Amino acid sequence: MTHPQVQLTSAPRRSSVTTLVGDVPIGGTHPIVVQSMTNTDTADIDATIAQVAALAEAGSELVRITVNTPAAARAVPSIVSRLDARGISVPLIGDFHFNGHILLPGNLECAAALAKYRINPGNVGKTRWDENFARIVECAIEHEKPVRIGVNWGSLDQVLLTGMMDENAARSEPREAHEVTMAAMVESALRSARAAEKIGLAHDRIVLSAKVSGVRDLVAVYRSLAPLCDYPLHLGLTEAGMGRKGTVASSAGLAMLLFEGIGDTIRVSLTPTPGGDRTEEVRVARQILQSLGIRSFEPQVTACPGCGRTTSTFFQEMALDIETYLQDRMPEWRVTHPGIETLTVAVMGCVVNGPGESRHADIGISLPGTFEEPVAPVFVDGEHSTTLRGEDIVKQFIEILEAYVARRFGADTIEVG
Ligand code: SF4
Repeated sequence: MTHPQVQLTSAPRRSSVTTLVGDVPIGGTHPIVVQSMTNTDTADIDATIAQVAALAEAGSELVRITVNTPAAARAVPSIVSRLDARGISVPLIGDFHFNGHILLPGNLECAAALAKYRINPGNVGKTRWDENFARIVECAIEHEKPVRIGVNWGSLDQVLLTGMMDENAARSEPREAHEVTMAAMVESALRSARAAEKIGLAHDRIVLSAKVSGVRDLVAVYRSLAPLCDYPLHLGLTEAGMGRKGTVASSAGLAMLLFEGIGDTIRVSLTPTPGGDRTEEVRVARQILQSLGIRSFEPQVTACPGCGRTTSTFFQEMALDIETYLQDRMPEWRVTHPGIETLTVAVMGCVVNGPGESRHADIGISLPGTFEEPVAPVFVDGEHSTTLRGEDIVKQFIEILEAYVARRFGADTIEVG
């Protein structure tokens, strides 16, 4: 019998140079970096420090902050030094629009404290673009900082776009205006990068992005940009949206590109609900990378959705209890149990898929389903280990889980010699 061929690997990672942002490398063969952005007024030092700390604690490896006013620029050195004093060393990126050419040269302590500058080529100025752009880049050169040239379709360089539209209109077979707009985004990023290098910025101090808000456009733009340069690429939908829509759209777009080997750092631009948790964007970004098998951050729980065989809430409660238990234990385990982030746990509702799925996980439990005998087999490393009975099945399972984690990831499992 001929077996179907199944290709298990994704495309190789796109080749790029490595850009150092503070001590975090982006590109090359380095892990794909998770980043985020604050939504506090940067001039409010306490609020900004609190949010940067929360984002870093959630796992953001770089954090971008708005630098839009002299007061914000003046606040940056204090923010960095106070974070340092708290032992939070996450590199901060300054997000500049319209007045970066004034704020950076006018606030040299800010320029020195930031780990990277984000320049939007569409917001550098129309009539004095060259001069303004050069002032920001010269500041980066002087302070030995990298820049991200971040093109955004909501603020695309209108001079460039108009020129490309005019050229297109003069063609015998003009392309669709939307296609020209997407091409202008790629051109804007590449042209700005060339301009920065011409001014003297090192090739390996440039990261590019070209963000749009539609998934199909995102994929098209990055597929076009990726083979035309070897700068590290920052991926993300701009204005991804709120809640479910933002999460799903970001996951769909980023997953397609990452699976093609495109992307060196990601941000998920979720709109929080009023007063909502800004760190959700970090958790989503990490989960995208972990779901694709690119990086490991947290133990993964495989739980079935439940169905007519699990009509009571017992199964959902059990899945939630085990997931919550793992989350609660992670801050300690992360320190004391290296490798714990690769743990897989299965929590299944019945014997239809339960034993099989549990065997694939490191440790798994399968309930019997509504109408069956109240027993729950537990599988460890693919083997049936024991069968739990009674009202405290979850408690018993957690004891087995603790013993497994201690045995497999605990300090006394480190081999010597
Ligand atoms: S494992 Fe059982 S309970 Fe879970 S979805 Fe499948 S059939 Fe339903």
